[in-house]
Amino acid sequence: MAFLSDIEIAQQAAMEPIVDVAKKLDIDADDLELYGKYKAKVSFDLWEKVKDNKDGKLILVTAITPTPAGEGKTTTSVGLAQALAKLGKKVTLALREPSLGPVFGVKGGAAGGGYSQVVPMEDINIHFTGDFHAITSAHNLLAAMLDNSIQQGNLLNIDPRRIVFKRVLDMNDRALRNIVIGLGGKPDGVPRQDGFDITVASEIMAILCLSQGIEDLKERLSKIIVAYTYDDKPVTAKELEAQGAMAMLLKDAIKPNLVQTLEHVPAFIHGGPFANIAHGCNSVMATKYGLKLADYFVTEAGFAADLGAEKFLDIKCRLAGLKPNAVVIVATIRALKMHGGVAKEDLGKVNMAALEAGIPNLEKHVENMLSFGLPVVVALNAFPTDTEEELKFIQEKCAKLGVPVVESDIWAKGGEGGIKMAEEVIKACDKENSFHYLYDEKLSPKEKIETIATKIYGADGVVFTDKAEKDLKKIHDLGKDGLLICMAKTQASISDDASKKGRPTGFKLTVREVRLSAGAGFIIPITGAIMTMPGLPKRPAACNIDVDAQGKVSGLF
Ligand code: ADP
Ligand code: MG
Repeated sequence: MAFLSDIEIAQQAAMEPIVDVAKKLDIDADDLELYGKYKAKVSFDLWEKVKDNKDGKLILVTAITPTPAGEGKTTTSVGLAQALAKLGKKVTLALREPSLGPVFGVKGGAAGGGYSQVVPMEDINIHFTGDFHAITSAHNLLAAMLDNSIQQGNLLNIDPRRIVFKRVLDMNDRALRNIVIGLGGKPDGVPRQDGFDITVASEIMAILCLSQGIEDLKERLSKIIVAYTYDDKPVTAKELEAQGAMAMLLKDAIKPNLVQTLEHVPAFIHGGPFANIAHGCNSVMATKYGLKLADYFVTEAGFAADLGAEKFLDIKCRLAGLKPNAVVIVATIRALKMHGGVAKEDLGKVNMAALEAGIPNLEKHVENMLSFGLPVVVALNAFPTDTEEELKFIQEKCAKLGVPVVESDIWAKGGEGGIKMAEEVIKACDKENSFHYLYDEKLSPKEKIETIATKIYGADGVVFTDKAEKDLKKIHDLGKDGLLICMAKTQASISDDASKKGRPTGFKLTVREVRLSAGAGFIIPITGAIMTMPGLPKRPAACNIDVDAQGKVSGLF
């Protein structure tokens, strides 16, 4: 059987008008702001109508440590929501908005795959409802006002060598990582070294995703630290009087976007912060709407459970007062074999020794999620090469941890392929749970970092470089010790060394630097070379993308 590509499947789908999809959540057409026939934002008025509804069940989808073999968190999230709908549940889900960087780089789109996708796929992957444009504009407005303040006599006494706020662009463009601006002459600005990050790494993105309304948004924007003065005082967006205009640019971007899955399940797609220097999940607003509007609400956290899920549970749940009901950990037999040392070309063969060597990665993530007091379901995303023998082995291992394992075939079959998974998830949601955060926010930043490193990563301890110590001292002097920790670490290992697969032990985590996102409310320990402006590969995915005379897109995946 020839497989259709994701975009071919998406293009064959007959979508329902979004007004009809919204009715499944009892949303009136009046409460939608339409962007064409198949996309809408939900209005602020809707919140007033639903805010006293009982919350639905909150299901978090996360995964084992990623490998080039692929896992399928987004695909599983969409498939699970479709399966819950097939079981007659009132359900919705929320995902992150894709960035153009990966679309044209290596990974491709981020709207799910196979028969578990959100549509209109092309729109979602490119300009969508313009949120990324708004975020980019708000960010660059602040950057422009900062340089203008220096140009116009520098009344704030800003030290141009100590500017900590770059510019952003939603594109993988490594040539913009380090640049010099202000060249020309007196009317052309003050020369200094600068750089671009990708929009998803913008602090404005993190802020938008954590804000619970325009007032909250403005408050957070005003606290962004952009630079330090010659006498070492922080300069904020508030001192540049930028927060009002920035919030104005974001007034529609803050409203969640509603689309549908291939099986017409309502889906929110809103906000897309990085999962390394930011918290890596969709907006709090989309999550809150989802919980109020449905009985079951599914959401995805970026990267593996050590990064995305930890931040979802410790940061997002704490800041938004959320209580999850179940965690789904996505794994594939192929990826577990890769953790056990098999090369990508050999994944098609049964290799029990490799599976045995790789499974500790899954076990560690399961133990971590259980340690938050939450019920866990392991969802094995099915590939044609999987065998009964391998499946049974994983089931036995997980049974020892008291956790159910189900194979799900949502990529090939849509919701129908996820019925068993959905039934297990419903059972998990019905269990009592004892959800609690990993660390007390009142601990010192070092103690908080040590707790994450030892309990979640399995490190023996943490080494702070001199630079990190200096940064922590500064954070302390600024009175910001109480902020939450947003770890920036490689996603390719549970440790801070990307080459260590499986379940690394006998290592210390090295914190090289500690950044502060005072607006978002994070302390960001940097544990490796964290890329905030990716580059394109030798042959970018963009080379294969085209559009015909009728406007039909091809090559997007
Ligand atoms: P994640 O959210 O974990 O990054 P995605 O759900 O976006 O992963 O999936 C990554 C890619 O893998 C997508 O292109 C998707 O179509 C593909 N994929 C996911 N599950 C399967 C599967 N069971 N069989 C084949 N391809 C799959
Ligand atoms: Mg994803």
